[in-house]
Amino acid sequence: MSAKRIVVVGGGWGGVAAAAAARKAGAEVTLLERADMLLGTGLVGGIFRNNGRFTAAEEMACLGCGDMFEVMDLCSRHRNIEFPGHKHSSLYDVYEIEPSVKSRLLDMGIDVRITSSVRSVEKRDGRLASVHTSNGQTVEGDAFVDATGTSASPANCVKYGNGCAMCILRCHSFSPRVSITTLAGVEEWDAVKADGSAGAMSGSCKLFKESLSKEIASALERDGVAVIPIPEELRTGSDKLSAKACQQYATSAFSENIVLLDTGPAKLMTPYYQLEALRQITGFERARYEDPIAGGLGNSMRYFRFANCSNTTQAEGETTNIFCAGEKLGAMVGHTEAIVTGSLAGHNATRHAAGMPLLTLPDSLAVGDFVNHVIGEMKHPERRGTKYTFSGSVYFDRMKHLGLYTTDTGEIEERVRASGLSGVMKKTFS
Ligand SMILES: Cc1cc2nc3c(=O)[nH]c(=O)nc-3n(C[C@H](O)[C@H](O)[C@H](O)COP(=O)(O)OP(=O)(O)OC[C@H]3O[C@@H](n4cnc5c(N)ncnc54)[C@H](O)[C@@H]3O)c2cc1C
Repeated sequence: MSAKRIVVVGGGWGGVAAAAAARKAGAEVTLLERADMLLGTGLVGGIFRNNGRFTAAEEMACLGCGDMFEVMDLCSRHRNIEFPGHKHSSLYDVYEIEPSVKSRLLDMGIDVRITSSVRSVEKRDGRLASVHTSNGQTVEGDAFVDATGTSASPANCVKYGNGCAMCILRCHSFSPRVSITTLAGVEEWDAVKADGSAGAMSGSCKLFKESLSKEIASALERDGVAVIPIPEELRTGSDKLSAKACQQYATSAFSENIVLLDTGPAKLMTPYYQLEALRQITGFERARYEDPIAGGLGNSMRYFRFANCSNTTQAEGETTNIFCAGEKLGAMVGHTEAIVTGSLAGHNATRHAAGMPLLTLPDSLAVGDFVNHVIGEMKHPERRGTKYTFSGSVYFDRMKHLGLYTTDTGEIEERVRASGLSGVMKKTFS
């Protein structure tokens, strides 16, 4: 049997995990990324293993798909730290992570193509046959993974946010997101908040550590976290909290304090903070934004155009050979969440291409309950405004309630063994 060809479009955490999983399942894999670096919003993230994300990462390793977490662990600046509401967190170094992920994918034999923005698709006999990039490439595949995310659209940042804040996605340089599901005619939805407005604003910025006082910078490097109370007259209220994509950080601890995390730069845990006001706080007199460059005004807007999919990640509709990963699959927040769904999408795209039944993760696993539950929620328009993450808010509550949250690695191993799925994602199909 000749190897099946899987094409992954979008090289964020969802896409790189999908590419790795498809390659493990025996496929020939091409990964197409619009910008000049992989990892998308993961280039400015860094937090993982916090709260229920620990359980999810360990379950994925037991399922045979822990590769991306291994790279994250190797790139960690801090491990097992606490910040308000979050336990046993690790922070990867945002400067180390992208080259490390890229070389891991190349070592696996994945054809990684940067500055390759997909602009159109071709269907044949009701299936997606190929995608075309803006620089003239045509890439054919047996199955495709759409991992293009839900952001990278300046028009949305202008219409629903505070304008383009010049974030890491660099839409004006590398062109905005184009989704495969849009081009293929799959049904898509936006996250709509309770006030009727669409999308959500990204929840953190990066400050140059060199622009902070020596005391703050060295405390941050030593402990990984610094919590600095904001004088009452400079507090910005709860309006920003309700607009945040990251509802796990929408608590008063984040509006009453400046919470900084050391991910290389200083990660400022708020969507934006007016620069003049920030500079009035002791230690921040010279503060400057690294990302978004206009972080004093706003941040990127996300959660537009996620696709109608089944819990195998397969897009619903006539074109059956499209699978979705990461935010494209639904209102899920986080690197861990994107890696879980991306791994399932890459694995199932390969199964589909090889004519094998698709894998559904069981509810007895946190990763299975997460995918099955969130996909179910997405079918209800009024629930699409909620964001789902293992690390907090409504899904972490559910995880604890169902007894799925644990940091006991022996228990996690036993749970996966009992599901009969240990190492399932190492099995080859093509
Ligand atoms: C500022 C910020 C900080 C964050 N911090 C954290 C954190 O600390 N921890 C955490 O767990 N989560 C964090 N998140 C959330 C997390 O980064 C995302 O939820 C997750 O990584 C999404 O991954 P994704 O692959 O679905 O999408 P994205 O990261 O958006 O990746 C999509 C990729 O597709 C590419 N693309 C789009 N269209 C095309 C096309 N037509 N052709 C080719 N490529 C295309 C894009 O360039 C991009 O690289 C953060 C998000 C932001 C914005």
